[in-house]
This record gives sequence, C-alpha cells and structure tokens, in this order.
Amino acid sequence: MIEATESYKKIQVTESYDVIVIGSGISGLGLAAILSKEGKRVLVLEQHYTIGGFTHVFKRPEYEWDVGLHYIGKIDDPNEFNYQLFHHITNGKIEWEPMPDDFDKIIVKGKQYDIVAGREEFAEKMKEQFPTPEDHKSIDQYMELLLEAQQVFSMYFAERMLPKFWSKIFGGLMKKGFGKFAHRTTLSVLSEITSNKELIAVLTGQYGDYGVAPAESSFGIHCTIVNHYMEGACFPVGGSASIANYICPVIKEAGGLVLSNAEVAEIIVKKNTAVGVKMKDGKALFAPKIVSSAGAMNTYLRLLPPAIREKHNFKEKLRGLKPSVAHICLYIGIKDTAENLGLKKSNYWIYQHNDHDKAGADFLRNPLENDFPVVYISFPSVKDPTWEDRYPGKSTIEIITVAPYELFEQWEGERWKKRGDEYLQLKEKFSQKLLESLYSVAPNLRGKIDYYELSSPLSTKHFTNYEHGEIYGLAATPERFEHKFLRVVSPVKNLFLTGQDILCVGVMGALSSGVFTASILLKKNCMNSIKKTAKEELGILD
Ligand SMILES: Cc1cc2nc3c(=O)[nH]c(=O)nc-3n(C[C@H](O)[C@H](O)[C@H](O)COP(=O)(O)OP(=O)(O)OC[C@H]3O[C@@H](n4cnc5c(N)ncnc54)[C@H](O)[C@@H]3O)c2cc1C
Repeated sequence: MIEATESYKKIQVTESYDVIVIGSGISGLGLAAILSKEGKRVLVLEQHYTIGGFTHVFKRPEYEWDVGLHYIGKIDDPNEFNYQLFHHITNGKIEWEPMPDDFDKIIVKGKQYDIVAGREEFAEKMKEQFPTPEDHKSIDQYMELLLEAQQVFSMYFAERMLPKFWSKIFGGLMKKGFGKFAHRTTLSVLSEITSNKELIAVLTGQYGDYGVAPAESSFGIHCTIVNHYMEGACFPVGGSASIANYICPVIKEAGGLVLSNAEVAEIIVKKNTAVGVKMKDGKALFAPKIVSSAGAMNTYLRLLPPAIREKHNFKEKLRGLKPSVAHICLYIGIKDTAENLGLKKSNYWIYQHNDHDKAGADFLRNPLENDFPVVYISFPSVKDPTWEDRYPGKSTIEIITVAPYELFEQWEGERWKKRGDEYLQLKEKFSQKLLESLYSVAPNLRGKIDYYELSSPLSTKHFTNYEHGEIYGLAATPERFEHKFLRVVSPVKNLFLTGQDILCVGVMGALSSGVFTASILLKKNCMNSIKKTAKEELGILD
C-alpha cells in the first residue's frame, strides 16, 4: 500500500474538501500536491486498488515491476525546472539515478544504432552511424528543426491554459511557432530532409515513446519527446512507486485524502456547474471544484451526465480525436543478479524492418503470425540502485509491443484470471514471440527465466479505465494538436481537466498539465512560484 493513502472500501469520507481530483496518475497527484502546498485540502479518488495511475508498480511474491515509467528525460540537475517541480511535490524526497549516455539502442534489421546524451554528441553519433555527406546534411537539418521546436513548444502548450475567450484573442499567436511542427506528420517533414529510409527509421526509433508511427504522428510530439531525452535520461531511485509514496504524504499533511478503490461513476452537475461526484456505490461527495485526470474521452463522454453531454454536444466537439494504440507487456523475473546476467541499464528498441508504418500495417493484418512492428526492452531492476537491497539476487525485465484491442475484446466482460484457455493460449503465443526478441539481444538469458506474465490491453483497461486499453490517452496525431477543445477549463463551470490528454504524453507532460491546472485553480503562475520556492530550498541563486 502506498504511504499516507486509504482504501475507499474501508473508510467513510466525512470531511469537506476544497477540490476533488478524479484519478491518481502523476497529473492528479502532482496537481493535488501543488494545491496542498498552497493550503488547499484535496480529495483524490482513484478507481484502481493502488495509487499512481501509470506510475504504479505491481507485485508478485518475489518481484515487482514498473508499469508506465521506464525513463524520464534527464532530471537530476537542480538548476532545471523539472527537477525543481519534483522536488516541490515530494518535499525534496525524490532522488534520481542517471541512465548511461547510450540510454537507447535502436536495432533495425539486426544492426544496432545508439542514441546518446547531449545535443552535439547526438548529432556526432548519428553522423558516425550514417557516414555519407548527404546524410550529414540531413542530420544537420534535423538537429536545427529539433532546436527550433524546443524554443517554441512551451508557448504552444501554455495556450491550453487560456479560457476560450482569451484563446480566441491570443491563441493564434501563441501557437504559431510550434504549430508548423505540430500540425504536420513526422514522415512528411523527415521525407523533405532525407530519402534514406534507414536514417528515418533510426531518427524515429523512439516512436514507441509517443505511440504513433511516422506517417501518422505529429512532428511536434516527435520533436517534444526527442528533445525531452536529448540530454540523457534518469530513473527514480526506489522505482516508480517512490513517486506516489513521496507525494501522498504532502497531500495528507495539508488535510487532504488519497483514496484507492474509489471509482467515480458520474460528475454531479447542477445548472451547468460541477458540484461533486457520484461514486460507483451511489454515495455523493461534494466540493467547490472538480478536476478530472481520467482522460478527455472518459470525462466528456462517460463521466458527465447524458443531458450535459448532449447539451454541449461533446461527441461532436471531440470529433477527429482517436485513442492511442493498445499494448502488451511481458513482465519477467529471473533468480540471478544483473551482474551475473550481464544486464545493462540501456533500453532496446527492436525493428525487423526499416519502414515503421508498413511494419505496423503488416502486423495488424495478421498480429499472430507477422513480426511485431516494434519491440521495446527495459531492465528496470538494473536502473534502480535500491533494487539489490529490496530483492537480493533477483532481476526483472519488461518487454513491450503494440497489440490491437480488438484481438482481446471478446474477453472484455470476463473477470481477470477467469478468461479461459483460448485467452491464455493467445497470451502464451505472444509471450514466446516476445521472449525470442529478448534472446536476440541477450542470448545468455535463454533457460534462465524464472517467471513471466503478459499483460493485455484488457489489463490496461481494468487498471486505468481507458476505454480501449490505450497506452497513451489520445493518439498524438496532427489532428489532435490542431484540436481547440482540449484544454484545462471545461465548458462546465467548476470542472477542470488535467493529464496527458491536455498537454502531451509522458510523465513530465502529464505532470506539467498538473502545474497548468493548479495555476488556473489558484489564479497564479505556479511555474514561477514553484521555481522560486524550490530555488530557495535548494540554495540556488538567480
Ligand atoms: C507501458 C507504458 C510505458 C510508459 N513509459 C514511459 C516512460 O518510460 N517515461 C515517461 O515519461 N512516460 C511513460 N509512459 C507514459 C506515462 O506513464 C503517462 O503519459 C503518464 O503517466 C500519464 O499520467 P496521467 O496522470 O495523465 O494519467 P494516468 O496515469 O492514466 O492516470 C489517470 C488515473 O485516473 C484513474 N481513473 C480513470 N477513471 C477513473 C474514475 N472513473 N474514477 C476514479 N479514477 C479514475 C485511472 O485509474 C488512472 O489511475 C508510459 C506509459 C505506458 C502505458
């Protein structure tokens, strides 16, 4: 159980709160902590049996695994805002373990390419791996685009904070710079600077971090994610559960409450004003402000009462948006140390083809027989310096790929562990295919696996409530970034949104949306105030 949290099943909510937050992912918890530090009493309601959303870990008797956090862009520098933000919401408790400089290894058709930390080093390494003068020119052009995107992206996302009226006046200007990246596909931009398919495959080799292949993804999200990891990567000391473990006491200390097993069935709306939530068991909880971090589709199409949905025509307003892909993940345990097994901290991205879009389409035609379009392998136990103390003599591995929700849909109504033999056989087939991918980069692990368990899109749906078990909320396409409706302030008074759908995918994207939502609720620039307090606490001079 996460520290300073309770189960809704075991307690009566009797106190009153300033804000109710639906969902305990990093956006919901981060927002609640910022509000708590400003004296607000926040009630966080989480439908899952544990807290943390995609940053939760799950345990089996001899192992534990991180579900949705394998690395965060370099965050161990106290001078950077991301460090200061995590420092603020965890009362300075969180610590970060750096990944090595070659933190991502891209393998295309058996050939390995390294992504390395540092803007200059990244370009140099790419040039070393693609030695022709034409490729060097393309890499230079690509680096310039990345840099330009880095300079303009925050203004674009800040527009999401504006109420509709102000957005109409200032929105165009604020979005202009980054819009030219965000509103085009990655492939259309990269095809203008190179015709080398292998180079495109490698430059987009981290596309699994945003879940949309180059022909459909927004070049804006591509740049945002590549830039995010440009200076390297880190992992939370103690694993991703340490995030919730350190944030929840901050909420509790201010008189707030974080509850697991607390599923919200409906947002209560009176005269177009959100006044509270109706829980799955029928109880009503009230607060002057309601924030949903449960995703745009869940909030607008499921949690709001039908009459409000129709009144505002939310279905039409969300047109053009689609869910991101679903995934399967093989969680592996081995009874041996990383040292003995030769496991390293770097992640692997494995591709059998150099055209990610075609590989994706081929896979979807016959997911059981055709190659996975991408296989991601992470070694979380090596990344966490506390692992050996917590689980001596053991190691863990996670292998992720995409999988269509429809393949598993027929078992949607069945309960976990009661889905029958056909479901288990399907999972076993995928598990064996994923294990073969692992052995392709670590052949010494064959015969060493002690435990494995495959999660399906149904697991994701069950644990996070995303309708199609989607991995990253809304798909990061140009249409999504052109959409005017995704913002913090909703058309229902006193109902606000936060989370990855409001800004962008990723732990930092979701947490930053929490800062935005807090700024609206508190009517102040929380980014500035967090920076100021954190710098004082850390003894950093301006
Ligand atoms: C497999 C995987 C790997 C990833 N790897 C990385 C990585 O290495 N680095 C990185 O930066 N990002 C990674 N991500 C993305 C990152 O985890 C997410 O973008 C981010 O955590 C989303 O946070 P959030 O707060 O927006 O949403 P969530 O974490 O989804 O939180 C929303 C919460 O709302 C709850 N909820 C929904 N409906 C209700 C309801 N009716 N009542 C109560 N509660 C409700 C859900 O149960 C959930 O806990 C990964 C994601 C996945 C799935």
